[in-house]
Amino acid sequence: MRAAVAIALTAAGCAATGARALPEPPDPPARTEWHAEPVFEKAWSANVVVYNHADASLALGPALALLQTQYDWLAEYTSSAPGRVIVHVGAQYPCGFSMSGADGGPPELFLQAGSIFDSQANYAHEMTHGFAFHWGALPHWFAESIADAAYADAEIALWKRRKEAPFLATFDRIDHRSYGLMRLRLRYGAGYFPRVFRLLEARKAERERALASGAPLETKNRFLLALLSEAAGEDLLPLFTREFGFDLRTRERQRGY
Ligand SMILES: [Zn+2]
Repeated sequence: MRAAVAIALTAAGCAATGARALPEPPDPPARTEWHAEPVFEKAWSANVVVYNHADASLALGPALALLQTQYDWLAEYTSSAPGRVIVHVGAQYPCGFSMSGADGGPPELFLQAGSIFDSQANYAHEMTHGFAFHWGALPHWFAESIADAAYADAEIALWKRRKEAPFLATFDRIDHRSYGLMRLRLRYGAGYFPRVFRLLEARKAERERALASGAPLETKNRFLLALLSEAAGEDLLPLFTREFGFDLRTRERQRGY
């Protein structure tokens, strides 16, 4: 990981110092109150642009390097990448959140400054949303649970801060919001979600129809359950309907949220 950080740093730009190994990416339109906050510093690497809205003392370079490392890992994990993500670091956000890009631009993440160096806080989760926007109008349950799964897998495989069995056990309780998809992760192993994402990428035409913003919820759910089943090598509908209490016609929200 040390080598990866060094490479990311040498390929970084920084408006404050003028050291620009890479040309400066354009700023996104200021479409929310969060964009309008003052910018103390802007820095960028090959695929990440980061804005410090929080405090002049924040060490933006190390945050940028971690975010680029997360980006590179997610690009492999999801078999896709948006080319660039924009990360705003703020002191006032009520929680981490993300939004799809303005006018086809890069997705934008809004991360809390206080936990910007803590991988378990929210940047793996929020960056996964940024990578997933192009798959269509995902039902909330699927979007949130794949973001939780990516966070779990990043903690284990990328950051190596967690041991797989005890960490995954923390998701294995009936009241966990991502219990259903994390059961699949436990059952089918570390390669399971990368297989799901490869299928999502491969079925582009079908995906664009099934996950269009105006598509019926049942169409979206049937499509996603078919992909989850194919990646598992067995029909998961009985498990979802009987054990998880999943109703194809009405399940939009994640459990408990
Ligand atoms: Zn989320």
